[in-house]
Amino acid sequence: MNSNLIHLIKLQKIDERLGGLKKIEAEGPLKIEEIDQELAAAELLVQESLQSEKEMLKRRLALEGEIEDTDRKMQENQTRQLRVKTNEEYRAMLKESEFMRKANAAREDEVLELMEQLEKIGQENKRLKRWLQEQRENLAQKRQEVQAWIETSLAGLGQINADRTDLVASLSREHITLYERVYNKRNGKAVTPILDGICQECHLKIPPQKFIELQKNDQLMTCPHCGRIIFWGGHEDYLDL
Ligand SMILES: [Zn+2]
Repeated sequence: MNSNLIHLIKLQKIDERLGGLKKIEAEGPLKIEEIDQELAAAELLVQESLQSEKEMLKRRLALEGEIEDTDRKMQENQTRQLRVKTNEEYRAMLKESEFMRKANAAREDEVLELMEQLEKIGQENKRLKRWLQEQRENLAQKRQEVQAWIETSLAGLGQINADRTDLVASLSREHITLYERVYNKRNGKAVTPILDGICQECHLKIPPQKFIELQKNDQLMTCPHCGRIIFWGGHEDYLDL
């Protein structure tokens, strides 16, 4: 049995798990941030729509006030028309009345249009408020799930690091150096099985003589093509790793 190899295979597996956990450590907070941004965008959308409704209502009230004022002025104008002395003055007053009448007609059109829009936006905002409530609940739940996933995933980190330290301590400096060199050069995959004479990482066949040697399982060997540390995947020592 080649115990160095067993330790190296275990180290490879631990490093793969650590790699996965580091990814969760880095991406987890980003996922939380995405959820928060999605909720903020939903809140903003609804807030803007409610603000539009408010502004339309304000505009409608302003127009109704102007219409009322102008109506009063027109009535005053009519009363004054009875007392004018000259034709010129009379024509000026008629002109003024006509101007006010037209202005109020335009305001009334706008009020009607606003009433239609207000009905639509009122319904839309009711729908949006319900939708926002759902979004708040869904996103809060999603956030909680992601948070729990991060915490659960990272809970075992201390133990894994401790296991790694033990493993590294059990290996010679020479083996660790070889492992680390291949690990860095080969994108985090330093140890790989050979099955049916084929390297499971680079998928090339190793020479038959080398494969026979490998099956003896008594020395540390590397793939002649990719340089990874290799072991015979069919050996019982490695089946449960
Ligand atoms: Zn290879």
